[in-house]
Amino acid sequence: MDIEPPSPGQAQEIIPGLRWLRFPLPFPPHDVNVWLLEDGEGWLAIDAGMGNDETRAHWRTALAGAATGNRPLTGLLVTHFHPDHAGLMGWLAADHGLVPMMTRIEWLTARSLWFDTGAEMIDQQVEFARIAGAPADYAAFQRARGALYQRSVTPLPRAFRAIADGDTLTIGGRDWRVLTGQGHAPDMACLFCAEARVLIAADQILPRITPYIGLHAGEPMADPLGAFLATLERFRALPEDTMVLPSHGAPFAPLHRRLDALAAHHADRLAALEEACREPRTTHALLPALFRRPLDHRSLGFGLGETLAHLRRLEAMGRVQRLPDAEGVIAWGRT
Ligand SMILES: [Zn+2]
Repeated sequence: MDIEPPSPGQAQEIIPGLRWLRFPLPFPPHDVNVWLLEDGEGWLAIDAGMGNDETRAHWRTALAGAATGNRPLTGLLVTHFHPDHAGLMGWLAADHGLVPMMTRIEWLTARSLWFDTGAEMIDQQVEFARIAGAPADYAAFQRARGALYQRSVTPLPRAFRAIADGDTLTIGGRDWRVLTGQGHAPDMACLFCAEARVLIAADQILPRITPYIGLHAGEPMADPLGAFLATLERFRALPEDTMVLPSHGAPFAPLHRRLDALAAHHADRLAALEEACREPRTTHALLPALFRRPLDHRSLGFGLGETLAHLRRLEAMGRVQRLPDAEGVIAWGRT
């Protein structure tokens, strides 16, 4: 399958009644996709894009021109709370008089993070990095950077409409089943249309990269990688040749080959990390087992989160254990 990506502000038809918009991002993976589903008089958008002026300008072009055929935005569904997906939810909702659809957990996560900007929140993140073995100067970087979420998310709507796993949404005469995925986000909404054999996969299943699976300070005993792998297993119930519309990268098929590749990728990384724990080391000292290049401060939080997610999976499997020192800094060793 080779579908040309649309330029920003333009749309590419995937199947009749389903169009692809793509907006640039100021960080990797450099683009985010939005899907437009024809729905009666207008369009229902899946995701809103990053909350910045550039994305706003591309939306204005899309809504005024050929991308939408001058038909209005009449619905909005946001797959998960991350800024590149929910960033302009409030702006689009206010401008078009929409009540966005979201799973309740994603909605509440967005609402709570948007207001969680105080010093105590940064203190907790500093402590989370310290016990993972981060270098002392990283704390100063974290404090100087401050809270990030609100910066790329416009003020959120005050009301939403909850969707949940198993719901069926009829959009433009087609039935779309809501499937939620875990691991990358707590309850991300994906949509499957059996008639078209299309899965709108959000960030759950991406074509070339694996979605970020990270442990975070707010839920340090979670097992996001276990949850992500369990979701991959559940998605095996969908037809083998399903076409996947990911939020980053181009549409692809078949679904099952990618499910296999993602599971194999994480199995390799778990094995490499378990091997590196032969000699007990902190999470920070274990980074080279998963990352080829050293991480700068800007990517260190993601690196530690991803390494911890793999360590938590190994811990849950009984393969590694945590060995705290007198200062609470945790080394991980094999059991
Ligand atoms: Zn994303």
